[in-house]
Amino acid sequence: MNTIHIPTPLRPFTDKKESVEVSGGTVGELLADLTRRYDGLRKHLYTDEGKLRNFVNVYLNDEDIRYLQREQTPVKPGDSLSIVPSVAGGAPTVTTPPEAEKASARAVPDLSQDEIKRYSRHLIMPEVGMDGQRKLKAGSVLCIGAGGLGSPAAMYLAAAGLGRIGIVDFDVVDFSNLQRQLLHGTPDVGRSKLDSARDRLRTLNPHVHVDTYDTSLSSENALELFEPYDVILDGTDNFPTRYLVNDACVLSGKPNAYGSIFRFEGQASVFAARNGPCYRCLYPEPPPPGLVPSCAEGGVLGVLPGIIGVIQATETIKLILGVGEPLIGRFLVYDALRMRFRELKLRKDPECPVCGTNRTVTKLIDYEQFCGLRPASEVQAGAPADDWEITATELKRRLDAGDDLLILDVREPNEYQINRIAGSTLIPLGELPRRYQELDPSREIITQCKVGARSARAAEFLHSVGFTKVKNLRGGIVEWIDQVDPSQPKY
Ligand SMILES: [Zn+2]
Repeated sequence: MNTIHIPTPLRPFTDKKESVEVSGGTVGELLADLTRRYDGLRKHLYTDEGKLRNFVNVYLNDEDIRYLQREQTPVKPGDSLSIVPSVAGGAPTVTTPPEAEKASARAVPDLSQDEIKRYSRHLIMPEVGMDGQRKLKAGSVLCIGAGGLGSPAAMYLAAAGLGRIGIVDFDVVDFSNLQRQLLHGTPDVGRSKLDSARDRLRTLNPHVHVDTYDTSLSSENALELFEPYDVILDGTDNFPTRYLVNDACVLSGKPNAYGSIFRFEGQASVFAARNGPCYRCLYPEPPPPGLVPSCAEGGVLGVLPGIIGVIQATETIKLILGVGEPLIGRFLVYDALRMRFRELKLRKDPECPVCGTNRTVTKLIDYEQFCGLRPASEVQAGAPADDWEITATELKRRLDAGDDLLILDVREPNEYQINRIAGSTLIPLGELPRRYQELDPSREIITQCKVGARSARAAEFLHSVGFTKVKNLRGGIVEWIDQVDPSQPKY
């Protein structure tokens, strides 16, 4: 026996079945068996001459039959066929995770006349309809961060009529945010992101209730903040918060609509520890600090969070409606350069420290420490800060005094093109282990990056290979520009 997946538009002709069991030795025989059972399908799939219509693609497993032997392609038992007409793709199956059942079971509010008009394109869809729209109105999401991912997610969720949207953020809108954080506009630069987000969401949809939390998410407040919400949408950009969100979601039983972005690549999944893997099943431990650069260090294509944030919003809506196939147990990887999506299977790890059988994490921990991050002043244990750090004004004074200092810029070449300290030498942090011999250990070296974190690691590395006269420029080039050379652009 073989399975044929039926796309949504053709299900009216298969008694609403999403898949049909058929038998035969070739693709053509399977399709013939299908149309024998459901005669109404025939005219949608075939022309009068009996040829497959050209807007209907048929895939055998993951392969388009046009690149195989078309209808003559032989099939093995267990192979599946997918019919993909040009209007739609995929083959959803309906599974409702238990987290979403709670939202579904709650008393749902009625819709006003205005809301009925506003959501009319939802209301005429059988998968949403009046009941679904009322579920959305009763539903709630907490967005961690009003940045690149939080922006598109919150905007689409507000527009879609999700009743309650919470946002946790403590940041202020900066010019460098505007390339991708569409919740904020140019006039918002300098305002709190929460104020800007609230205004934007209210303009989009005044029927939505927006809660703002002017705080950074911490082990102390996470469980309390998560409590009133159905879904947590992780839009964070750092590992400590990502693990904190994961663990707090597992401990409180909330689904985590996860997304992450870097340069041209995005990832998305739904971690729902009660019936699927969690983030720690995938990555039990964080990478060592510095191995994986942040967006601030590595950059991100401005449109990328638009794609990934909207995927997170889509999953949130599906969880609340209880429709479709959630991205649970699946890890979606999106490559914008190749314009390709890949899906990896995720499995629940029985040894997972937070959702496994012998869990060792039963309450929220210190995630900064867990991720190996300590305040900069503790990087070199035991040494007083002044011994290995130098401030921008002190560096300027010493340069003016004619001291022989080698300023080692460890940023990437494209960052160096934007701004630099005159006379500095560029060796990106990643190249330092194989290029440090180019440096003269007898000279005093000042390591420098954008804000001081990468250069602290560079200084630490140089110490470890025997350099004794190394200092780190505190606050990096940003502080240098602020305090010494405001003529240079900041990024
Ligand atoms: Zn887990």
